[in-house]
Amino acid sequence: MDKRTLDKINKFTRRPLTEEEVYVFPAILCDNDIDRDGERFSDGALEALKELFIGRTGIFDHKAAAANQAARIFDTQLIEDPSRTTKDGRPYKFLRGEAYMVRTGENRDLIAEIDGGIKKEVSISCSAAERRCSVCGADRSRGGCAHVNGRTYAGKLCHTVLDRITDAYEWSFVAVPAQVSAGVTKTFSSGEEHPAPAYSEDIAEELRRDIRRLAYFSGGRTASDAAGLAAKELSCQELIRLKKSYEALAEKAGAGVQLAPEEEEKPVPEQFRLR
Ligand SMILES: [Zn+2]
Repeated sequence: MDKRTLDKINKFTRRPLTEEEVYVFPAILCDNDIDRDGERFSDGALEALKELFIGRTGIFDHKAAAANQAARIFDTQLIEDPSRTTKDGRPYKFLRGEAYMVRTGENRDLIAEIDGGIKKEVSISCSAAERRCSVCGADRSRGGCAHVNGRTYAGKLCHTVLDRITDAYEWSFVAVPAQVSAGVTKTFSSGEEHPAPAYSEDIAEELRRDIRRLAYFSGGRTASDAAGLAAKELSCQELIRLKKSYEALAEKAGAGVQLAPEEEEKPVPEQFRLR
């Protein structure tokens, strides 16, 4: 392990770890191919996930969420595989995460299993604000269009493009028998099947905060209060649109507003926290 790798890991640790103390392994988090649900990540979505997954904790088999069974991603890379194309003929790309675990007596068997390739199915959890029809671009979170995933229109395979990733939550390894072909399973908030994912309220709250802040910049306290009231009952999609219009307003007003989401580290449950 080179020093740069160890330096990257040590950004996340309470005390500097030595090479002997850590176990490092790769995990393929997701790719740009159309999956079994007829959905795929856009290139922009993969870029966003590349940033968002750094520092994220992953667990093995949800039941075994003891501290020594957790791993953390400390580096990510988007890799193009020239030997493969996606189902719709684009160059294949995948997001690879480098993860580390602190070696303990208890996780020796687990490490052996990872080394042996037994645990290879990764599932990730993230939130996509936009789900577009690949044929006409209609937003499928908002009614969509008449195109059907899996059908071909003018020679093009219809699918859903996931875009505008707002957050990445966690990743986990699921034990699968080695002979089962490995794949990526993902879960994310998607307007149709899961109208109210458990974490959508957090996102909505964050959006409302942004809206209030933006309104404050363009019209002071009164505007901020009014915006807060207006935003109260809106869905995530509506909030995103409202936020956009406030952003445009703030830009016009010439306020040098910092629009980046607040860098507020989500608290990692104690049992997942790495030493
Ligand atoms: Zn369409």
